[in-house]
Amino acid sequence: MATINDNYLKLKAGYLFPEIARRVTAFAEANPEAPIIKLGIGDVTEPLPEACRAAMITAVEDMGDRNSFKGYGPEQGYPWLREKIAAQDFQARGCEIDASEIFVSDGAKCDSGNILDIFGNQNTIAVTDPVYPVYVDTNVMAGHTGPANEDGKYGGLVYMPITAENDFTAEIPDQQIDLIYLCFPNNPTGAVASKAHLKAWVDYAKANGSIIFFDAAYEAFITDPELPHSIYEIEGARDCAIEFRSFSKNAGFTGTRCAFTVVPKSVKAKAADGSDVELWKLWNRRQSTKFNGVSYIVQRGAEAVYSEAGQAQIKALIQFYLENAQIIRDQLTAAGLAVYGGVNAPYVWVKTPDNISSWDFFDKLLHNSNVVGTPGSGFGAAGEGYFRISAFNSRENVNEAMRRITSAA
Ligand SMILES: *Cc1c(COP(=O)(O)O)cnc(C)c1O
Repeated sequence: MATINDNYLKLKAGYLFPEIARRVTAFAEANPEAPIIKLGIGDVTEPLPEACRAAMITAVEDMGDRNSFKGYGPEQGYPWLREKIAAQDFQARGCEIDASEIFVSDGAKCDSGNILDIFGNQNTIAVTDPVYPVYVDTNVMAGHTGPANEDGKYGGLVYMPITAENDFTAEIPDQQIDLIYLCFPNNPTGAVASKAHLKAWVDYAKANGSIIFFDAAYEAFITDPELPHSIYEIEGARDCAIEFRSFSKNAGFTGTRCAFTVVPKSVKAKAADGSDVELWKLWNRRQSTKFNGVSYIVQRGAEAVYSEAGQAQIKALIQFYLENAQIIRDQLTAAGLAVYGGVNAPYVWVKTPDNISSWDFFDKLLHNSNVVGTPGSGFGAAGEGYFRISAFNSRENVNEAMRRITSAA
């Protein structure tokens, strides 16, 4: 009889978004006239930039001519895309990253899970609380944790609380951690990390032989010129960090699918015999074996992000979402709520009033204002008492949702 990976049975069956859907459906059935506005989901709403669409249309035509037709491409991505990424996203910011260290993929979500393939099973792993659930669940699936407790915390993982008290930046651990997940600008809190904060992490990682997984999916939303966009802006990060990037949030590729992972050739970890092994070699081997590259058409679309027109269009797109975030911040502040994030990120992290629970606040907003957000406790125990509002929506919906919330306050 075939057996299963029992670690999957430890997973808390996707509680957050199904529970939101259940409550929204029940409310909508009881109140069929209620004009519900959803500010809950982390998906973009505005159309793909013109430059990306035009490049993909041309690429489709390339596929129709046997002289320019493309079959399998390089598993790591086409050199013309990797070179533009290395030059414009990294070298232009003073980061010493070579095109050969860029691995193009179909998502930062899958890469941040797949990366565990090249690591051992005995590492101590730290995540923030609240957290992007992918980091936790992929470690559960890989058998790196024990079962979950009633708070939803898995045995064996180190949870680093991020709350208003520590400015939503985790304290540097006083114990040995081998793999550290950091996400800045942060989903769900919208918090950012200063160079000094990332430097402290890089110093910790170098002193402890740790690897930092740095998720920079929201890098394009950074408006403060003092903030680092990449962990490689920090001295020493080339020796201890892997960075995940995506075209999902900066260029609206959530449905088109293109992302990349940076693995510097200088990052090493230990083999069982005590020798140091380049992670680049293992990731290259892993991708060449299990992945066959992103479609030529989509990579041409991603390449257009780096054109002059593409850059102007994605700036406008990000500006639009950031204006939504500013409206949300201003209106919720006027309604007497404490808000965080939303300045260098598309998420506003709201403290629930009078210490009511995240789910009670969810119900209150749904019933009184017909607005749907995301309870902070769904991202981790330390998210209790907070609530995430997403700026990914039309201006009309944002204005209307805020009008309702302020008039109900
Ligand atoms: C949206 C998001 C990503 C991007 O994932 P893709 O698979 O590239 O769409 C990565 N990390 C975080 C934290 C995100 O919110």
